[in-house]
Amino acid sequence: MRYAMAIDTLKCVGCSDCVVACQTENNVPIGYCRDWIVEVTDGTYPNLTLENRSERCCHCTNAPCVRCCPTGASHKTEEGVVLVTHSDCIGCAACITSCPYDARYTHPEGYVDKCTFCYHRLADGLLPACVSVCPTKCLYFGDLDNPESKISEVLKNRKWKLLIPEAGTEPKLYFLI
Ligand code: SF4
Ligand code: SF4
Repeated sequence: MRYAMAIDTLKCVGCSDCVVACQTENNVPIGYCRDWIVEVTDGTYPNLTLENRSERCCHCTNAPCVRCCPTGASHKTEEGVVLVTHSDCIGCAACITSCPYDARYTHPEGYVDKCTFCYHRLADGLLPACVSVCPTKCLYFGDLDNPESKISEVLKNRKWKLLIPEAGTEPKLYFLI
C-alpha cells in the first residue's frame, strides 16, 4: 500500500477550507499551518491563467527529512506516510532545512510538525480532514498500489505534474492540470 494525494488545480477555488479543516482536526497552533494555498498567475493581460494549489507535505518516497533525522523521530510508515514522533524529536530542525517543499515547522512546544495525511483518521477508515471538507471535491486520496482506487483512476486519465521533481524526492502529491 502506498498512500498518495492528487489535487485538481482546475477545480480548486482557493477557498482555504482544507487549511481550516486541518488546523481544527490537528490542533495546529494559531499562526502555523500544515497545509496552505498557493496561487500562481501566468500570462499577460488579458490572456491570464490562475492556478490554485492546495499544498502540504508530499510524503516523499525518497524523503531527505527521514534520512537526515538524527533521532529517528522522522520516519516512514509501511503505507509510505512520513510522520514525526513528537516525543523523539529534539527540535534540531535538520529536517526543516532538508525539505525542498518547506512543509515542516517548529511547533511552539519545541518539536517539528507537519501534515500526517491525518494518519489517525486513516486508521478509522476516514479520509484526511482536508479531503473530506473540500467543497469542490478537488482532492483525491488513496492507494497508488490499488489500480481501482480513485487516485489511480484520476492519475491514469488526467495530465498531472509534480512539484520540484528535480529534487529527486519522488513526491506523492500529484497536481492535476
Ligand atoms: S515534503 Fe518535505 S517533509 Fe514531506 S516527506 Fe518530502 S522532504 Fe519530508
Ligand atoms: S527536528 Fe526533530 S524530526 Fe527534525 S531532524 Fe531534528 S530530531 Fe528529527
